[in-house]
Amino acid sequence: MSIELYIHIPFCIRKCNYCDFLSFPIREGAAFFCYMDALCQEVRKTAEHIGMMTPVSTVFIGGGTPSILPPGAIAGLLDKVGSQFALEKGAEISMEANPGTLTREKLDEYRAAGVNRLSIGLQSPDDGLLTRLGRIHTWRDFLDNYDQARKAGFDNINIDMMSGLPGQSEENYEEGLRKVLALKPEHISSYSLILEQGTPFYDDPATLSDLPDEETDRSMYRRTKEILGEYGYHRYEISNYSLMGKECRHNLGYWSGTPYIGLGLGASSYWKEEKSIFPSRFSNTRDLDRYLQDPFIPFEKRDCYERIEEKDYMEEYMFLGLRRMEGVSIKQFDRSFSASMEEVYGSVLKKYEELGLMERRGDQVCLTEAGIDVSDYIFTDFML
Ligand code: SF4
Repeated sequence: MSIELYIHIPFCIRKCNYCDFLSFPIREGAAFFCYMDALCQEVRKTAEHIGMMTPVSTVFIGGGTPSILPPGAIAGLLDKVGSQFALEKGAEISMEANPGTLTREKLDEYRAAGVNRLSIGLQSPDDGLLTRLGRIHTWRDFLDNYDQARKAGFDNINIDMMSGLPGQSEENYEEGLRKVLALKPEHISSYSLILEQGTPFYDDPATLSDLPDEETDRSMYRRTKEILGEYGYHRYEISNYSLMGKECRHNLGYWSGTPYIGLGLGASSYWKEEKSIFPSRFSNTRDLDRYLQDPFIPFEKRDCYERIEEKDYMEEYMFLGLRRMEGVSIKQFDRSFSASMEEVYGSVLKKYEELGLMERRGDQVCLTEAGIDVSDYIFTDFML
């Protein structure tokens, strides 16, 4: 069975005002080389640990800002991955990039190294909002980078957008979406801003007072589906839209329980040892110095090592699967666990079906449009 790889690059030019991802502001220097060296060691030792040339269906290089790395770094990394794992023919190799850090030279290198899907963090085409978010780029920078990416041959591009931003009106959001749609990317992700503790936005009264009210935020969310639908994009997950056949295979794997190994600082894994019935979950250290000293620690000694019990696995099956518009398969649940979906979740399903928030379509159970609106609330009911 093939696995997925996630590779974390924890560097950004500077920290955005809303960001609580594991990333450090850095522009250049030896840290890049030390980190890539440690990462390559971890790739090698992981392959030795789980089996050399284990088949890999998708690789996702995320961050942080992977495109901040100097020329040659991504090619070197993928070369290492390709020498230790068996990348399947047609494997999806995605990479995150931020406008203002891409050059044609780097883009040509990524293509030549096998990157076949680019995910660009735009967030909004409004320069005023970009400044407020603390982004390093303008709309113009994004357009230049996008154009270069197309010229370099990227034919599978995602653009990340955000809604519910301070000072953002519904009209501003819609206008932004249409500007992006005019570029015909293959995939669009749009997430509502979440104020995370410890970020500059969280403690800033001006940000709090300028946030759209809940109804406007919900309305932006609903309009996303309507507008993207007009342009031929289908929603396949709560916040993800694509042209047919351009869904992100890596993320679909996350939501359907495919095992994955996370490599790099703080990266999480979801992995089933041969002798176990259910997978375990564990993460790498989030301490950069510690990671650089010892980039590979046996899985069971990692931070947050957690053996997943059947009950946890059932919960995850439901609330990760329900994020996908196709929902979850009743038959697959019944085959995978010691009790049927009806026995475990019959009363919860009945309640939400009666409220019109969930529905059955043949063998699948999924959220309705109204259910998607309150999905976070519904998911808590699937905790056992
Ligand atoms: S570019 Fe992305 S990862 Fe980096 S600070 Fe901004 S939001 Fe965080």
